[in-house]
Amino acid sequence: MKENTVPADPLIRSARREEICRIFGESYDPARWNDWRWQMRHRFIKPEQFEELLRLTPAERRGLTMSQEKFAVAVTPHFAELIDPDDPACPIRLQVVPREEELLVGPGDMTDPCGEDHDSPVPGLVHRYPDRVLLLALDTCASYCRYCTRSRLVSQGGLEPLPRRLDAIVEYLEQHTEVRDVLLSGGDPLLMSEDRLDDLLGRISAIPHIEFLRIGSRVPCFLPQRITPELVAVLRKHRVWLSLHFCHAREITLEVGRACDLLADGGIPLGSQTVLLKGVNDDVQSLKELFHALLRIRVRPYYLYQCDPVIGTGHLRTTVQAGMELMSGLRGHTSGYAVPTYAIDAPGGGGKVPIQAQTILEYENGHVNLRNWAGQYYSYFDPPEHA
Ligand code: SF4
Repeated sequence: MKENTVPADPLIRSARREEICRIFGESYDPARWNDWRWQMRHRFIKPEQFEELLRLTPAERRGLTMSQEKFAVAVTPHFAELIDPDDPACPIRLQVVPREEELLVGPGDMTDPCGEDHDSPVPGLVHRYPDRVLLLALDTCASYCRYCTRSRLVSQGGLEPLPRRLDAIVEYLEQHTEVRDVLLSGGDPLLMSEDRLDDLLGRISAIPHIEFLRIGSRVPCFLPQRITPELVAVLRKHRVWLSLHFCHAREITLEVGRACDLLADGGIPLGSQTVLLKGVNDDVQSLKELFHALLRIRVRPYYLYQCDPVIGTGHLRTTVQAGMELMSGLRGHTSGYAVPTYAIDAPGGGGKVPIQAQTILEYENGHVNLRNWAGQYYSYFDPPEHA
């Protein structure tokens, strides 16, 4: 496999790991570093830990102090290692280190931009589309993305523990025979123990009309050490598909490549969602590098989302026009598999709306005028209608 690893030099990597471990009063031990529970116990959560990890700007310092009450901060050592300690514009840093701009409320900003609470028939279940539901399994993540659409829930204790909600969820699903597809998300379901996840997936897949189980997870990106043969066995047993979440090519490290290899070799279909973020990936080259790196580890990029208008995310959002121009720079310029669907989750609960560049210029009497990826014009004629 061709791997896309950053940083490439193992000596540099272990030196940075030594520095990171020292912040927690420990020395670097590869076995501990590769233990996902150690990673979770040693997450960066306090301003003073970030002071030692990075050369903070005043805006970050204020963000770290003030954002704690609004939306918790946490970064795994694995992800922290990818942050440039001296560059405030580092695309990894922008995703997980808060800035004081998070306290600004812009026009159109919302607490629940996708209107999920409105479409929730039982706590922790969202039923919007006819044949599929979203099950919010838990409210914790390995690290917290500053643009999270569920910041009102995750990290805040916003959800009752699943064992207290699960009977009502299962009862609802049993009664709604039109539901065939369940997406488990959160928070991150892959932070559950194998036994708890096995039990949850088993209860849902035992419902006769449920035929498709998906899990939305950023664990392979934030905490690839969690992807163990035991976890893969549980996912395989229940024939789960995984929707992963990556935003920058620098996230595709050696460990992430190995984790995705374990999943792909275990027969788990892998797709990735990317959120379009200002300063992180809002240029054609960054997106291409990310999507190509994902294909190399057998992950199909399938959605590029316009960032939801969550309160305090204005500094991370691009315009829709910029998104459309980026898509024009991808479509036709690289493999079709490397081009995801660009979509907006319509604010207020309208669901996902694909956004496409204008490629049909005119459509009249079975005669279609098209513009291709290179800006050239072509015509297509529909077949004649036969009686
Ligand atoms: S991993 Fe997903 S749910 Fe968790 S903070 Fe990031 S975007 Fe939100």
